[in-house]
Amino acid sequence: MLRSVKSFDLKKKKILLRVDFNVPMEQSKVVDDFRIRAALPTIQHCLRQGAALVLMSHLGRPKGKVVPSLSLIPVGETLADLLEMPIKFSDDCVSEDSHDVSLGLKPGEIHLLENLRFHSSEIGNRPDFSIALAKHGDIFINDAFGTAHRAHASNVGVTVNFTQKGIGLLMEKELHFLSDLTKKPKRPFVVVLGGAKIGTKLNLILRLINASDMILIGGGMAFTFLKTMGKHVGKSLVDTGATAAAKTILRNARQKVQLIFPEDVRCAIGSDKPDKISVHTASHIPDDQMGLDIGPETIKQFRDLILSAGTVLWNGPMGVFEVEEFSAGTKAIGEALAAATQGGALTVVGGGDSAAAIKKFGLMEAVTHVSTGGGASLELLAGNRLPAIAALEK
Ligand code: AMP
Repeated sequence: MLRSVKSFDLKKKKILLRVDFNVPMEQSKVVDDFRIRAALPTIQHCLRQGAALVLMSHLGRPKGKVVPSLSLIPVGETLADLLEMPIKFSDDCVSEDSHDVSLGLKPGEIHLLENLRFHSSEIGNRPDFSIALAKHGDIFINDAFGTAHRAHASNVGVTVNFTQKGIGLLMEKELHFLSDLTKKPKRPFVVVLGGAKIGTKLNLILRLINASDMILIGGGMAFTFLKTMGKHVGKSLVDTGATAAAKTILRNARQKVQLIFPEDVRCAIGSDKPDKISVHTASHIPDDQMGLDIGPETIKQFRDLILSAGTVLWNGPMGVFEVEEFSAGTKAIGEALAAATQGGALTVVGGGDSAAAIKKFGLMEAVTHVSTGGGASLELLAGNRLPAIAALEK
């Protein structure tokens, strides 16, 4: 059975806490502290209960080598600022010195370990590395939702070394919103899907066809469907390897769910040429044009449908939102979710690009839940078991 951190007596215990501090960095500075803030409730709960904490995380892809620009030192500084307390730091997560620091840790203190992926054994899920990590604590808690779809030493291998193990408050929240959502949604359950590719989202879409009442499809992925249906999509992004997947989805959706595609799209000859924008019917895009955002009619239609929903799940931007001129559709969908939330709907945003978009438009607090995991949220919504969760159920 999966245990919550709340079910343990934490007093005077050392908690080895796997967190997801894999945050965007620029010039050794944390540029988005969303994931660090998301870990605070569990950290604060443990401290309040009289525990000492050893925190471990990965950052980026150092490929088993020490890469100074991927050090967790700036993350530790951000965390210390947020908690307004000093934090101990070890520059190697399994060194003798780091074990000594953990050994001497007092209740209320925090010890942050250096980037787990400076050791190739982390991704290799090597038992000797897991044992060395496990030496840091008495109880293992995993709160790193963003990596829960991976089987690594710090989230899967390490678990066999603990009798007391469970999940943190963030993990609980993510499982609640993403897993339970598709099981008992308040209806109508409206799903908004976008982004570039269908390939990676095939299982997710097939599951949502059965769980939801309506799927609104925007972003680049809409064109693969439109093309499969014989429409003229001009130079728009088409995932040629996913034609069969698109056909399967269209066939499966019949009589089960309404699939809604854009009526109109904002086009240009390329996303780097936003100076000559024109709006076209989505099924008749001129040969030299690319659909780069949903158009004004589609925005209106999608907004109305979102406002009629009891539950909304959004995954994937409606256009190339990174470019100002093609961000209106994605922004409008974020605003529609915010309005639906105000009206009493439960609104959930999948991690990755949609989370980045909702942050960019300042709407993080305006929706019910924004997931901290990209790949993990897709896996969970697709109905797959996450290895890190399965390891804690044993
Ligand atoms: P994904 O990782 O599949 O969710 O795709 C996210 C990416 O899709 C973002 O970087 C967007 O810029 C891109 N995207 C969204 N709509 C379009 C479009 N119409 N054409 C090209 N790229 C798009």
